[in-house]
Amino acid sequence: MHLTVLTIFPELFGPFLATSLIGRARERGLLAIEVRDLRDATTDRHRVVDDEPYGGGGGMVMTAPPWIRAVREATAAAPAWRVLLSPQGRRLDDALVRELAARERLVLLCARYEGIDERVLETVVDEEVSIGDYVLSGGELPAMVLIEALSRQVPGVVQLASSVVRDSFRSGLLDHPHYTRPPVVEGREVPPVLLSGNHAEIERWRELAAVRATWRKRPDLLAVAELTAAQRRELERLGRECGDGLARRPKDRG
Ligand code: SAM
Repeated sequence: MHLTVLTIFPELFGPFLATSLIGRARERGLLAIEVRDLRDATTDRHRVVDDEPYGGGGGMVMTAPPWIRAVREATAAAPAWRVLLSPQGRRLDDALVRELAARERLVLLCARYEGIDERVLETVVDEEVSIGDYVLSGGELPAMVLIEALSRQVPGVVQLASSVVRDSFRSGLLDHPHYTRPPVVEGREVPPVLLSGNHAEIERWRELAAVRATWRKRPDLLAVAELTAAQRRELERLGRECGDGLARRPKDRG
């Protein structure tokens, strides 16, 4: 996967791209990430990238020409899917991460100020992506969120492929709880099955624990999650015990 980031604050990306899984993936050539300074695409002496908004009002707007030039330069050698990080975009979730990860090349546009001249969106942006319904001061953190999520989809970045498959949302459910040494913490013991060495039993426990975690923390996910027969039975049991009606999902009725 090849990513190009366009920003006026390239220095924000340094340690992020050099550390942990992403740093190693770049060293091993699994991920190519290039960060370009938008100001390099300006043509004036002061490298200006913003101006006052037409129609007045507060704040500054990022001007179109440097963005259009920078995106065209970034895609000159090979076409890429061009993503503007924006609170107005499609909200990032596991499905969108996987859609974007299927693309070989991406250009990520990180805006600042009041945002970017609308004609940039009309000419050189394929999609707007939001990381949630709140407004940050720039697209750099959202780009990092996206890069980290995308990197987990690149084969070999996460050493154990099974841990990506088990991650929350992938199966439609949350991940099961995790435990490690010591065996007792503040008087709380690890579920005995995890110490049993019986892998089939551990697998079964994890399957049901994922349903319990989802039922407790994100019951909305259960409306569409694909469940095994054992998971459906566990859900029904929880519903009977707590009597809140969640055990019968719309798609199981009838
Ligand atoms: N005036 C804009 C609006 O209300 O839609 C917000 C501009 S925001 C201060 C500056 C930039 O930060 C945005 O253009 C975008 O690149 C980025 N940004 C802010 N919040 C974001 C979010 N939730 N998701 C993705 N990008 C975001």
